[in-house]
Amino acid sequence: MYEYGCLDCARQFERLLPMNAADQHIVIVCPFCQSTHVQRRLSLFAAHSRGETSAPAAAATTSGGGCSCSSCGCGSRS
Ligand SMILES: [Zn+2]
Repeated sequence: MYEYGCLDCARQFERLLPMNAADQHIVIVCPFCQSTHVQRRLSLFAAHSRGETSAPAAAATTSGGGCSCSSCGCGSRS
């Protein structure tokens, strides 16, 4: 279960994603305004699952700053 916050209507909602969702680029759409400007609020198990993928493709995409979060630490992981 992941928590998301919409950047357009400022609502929060939850989405239940499969285990392998962390390895995929799934577009989450706000159920209220259909906006794709949503920000994932990282949960504990989700943060732990990140970084386990050693695929070069994943490193290339993550370095582009796809996530605009400033508080979840997804852009500054060690
Ligand atoms: Zn929205």
